[in-house]
Amino acid sequence: MERLPEVRGKLTPGRGLAEMSWLRVGGPAEVFFQPADEEDLAAFLRACPRDVPVFPVGVCSNLIIREGGIPGVVIRLGRAFAGIHVEDGLVRVGSAALDRRVATTAAEAGIDLSFLRTIPGTIGGAVVMNAGCYGTYTADVFLNARAMDRHGEIITLTGADMGFAYRSSRLPEGLILLEATFRGPQRPVEEIESRMEEIVQKRAASQPVDDRSCGSTFRNPAGFSSTGQADDVHDMKAWKLIEDAGLRGFSLGGAQMSPKHANFLVNKGDASATELEELGELVRKRVFEHSGVRLEWEIMRVGEWPSPS
Ligand SMILES: Cc1cc2nc3c(=O)[nH]c(=O)nc-3n(C[C@H](O)[C@H](O)[C@H](O)COP(=O)(O)OP(=O)(O)OC[C@H]3O[C@@H](n4cnc5c(N)ncnc54)[C@H](O)[C@@H]3O)c2cc1C
Repeated sequence: MERLPEVRGKLTPGRGLAEMSWLRVGGPAEVFFQPADEEDLAAFLRACPRDVPVFPVGVCSNLIIREGGIPGVVIRLGRAFAGIHVEDGLVRVGSAALDRRVATTAAEAGIDLSFLRTIPGTIGGAVVMNAGCYGTYTADVFLNARAMDRHGEIITLTGADMGFAYRSSRLPEGLILLEATFRGPQRPVEEIESRMEEIVQKRAASQPVDDRSCGSTFRNPAGFSSTGQADDVHDMKAWKLIEDAGLRGFSLGGAQMSPKHANFLVNKGDASATELEELGELVRKRVFEHSGVRLEWEIMRVGEWPSPS
């Protein structure tokens, strides 16, 4: 902490992250930084020693944070980074804006970003994860993004720079996304609103929306399709492989593969990060033994393991 520069925003040593994460587990950030604005973030990054790791988070809806916490500085962008501007049919959004707000604001202007309506993260997380559902991905509507590097310099990124793939991107480590611009299809407002309502209902019917989860735990396996095309084909469903291995509802301590949707890893109330991760690894092992398919985590596991007691 003594090696870090003074800021106008807020630096908090040892800030717990569990209460802000969707799974409600995990240890603290060594230091938690909430920059006041872009200038404050740039000044901090310029002066922050290079050997101090920085890790940006959104609302931690795709993270299992391990009990040992996250070393270095965890950066969370706040209100100054959450603006939504609709101009000339484009939607320019700050990274901290919630996906849901972006979908509803775009809808009012007749721009269809309805797929974002039920994804609980921020735009920063959506771009990094290439978040999507029901057939549309962030990459489909992405035009460009502004990001900041470790020297506090602004960089513009195109879709090609982002290296989007299924539920992933190749954003270089250390870059912090500030803003993204999207171009969505133009449609009548009522049509977009009813599409959003349809997605809300569909999700509630098939997923444990009231439980603590990170959405899909594993990616649908690559390369399984009727056409045999390469990596972007994901016709084989992770939930089906888990179900076929007899693991729907399978639990370990307070962690469970949801009885409602077998690919949702849920915290039943008192799970630890270790239990959640161990259950996930056990499911990967059993699915491999049963079907020969190696499931890949979609949820990111970050931070340090707890120190042995
Ligand atoms: C109930 C539920 C349902 C879900 N459904 C879906 C779904 O349908 N489709 C889907 O794709 N996902 C889904 N998810 C997963 C999750 O919401 C998405 O992956 C989301 O995009 C993560 O956003 P976040 O802001 O929470 O990011 P975090 O989980 O906080 O971070 C995810 C990654 O993004 C990086 N990141 C975040 N902000 C920035 C930034 N400003 N600059 C640089 N890097 C950044 C982090 O470093 C990390 O690598 C679901 C999760 C839950 C809890």
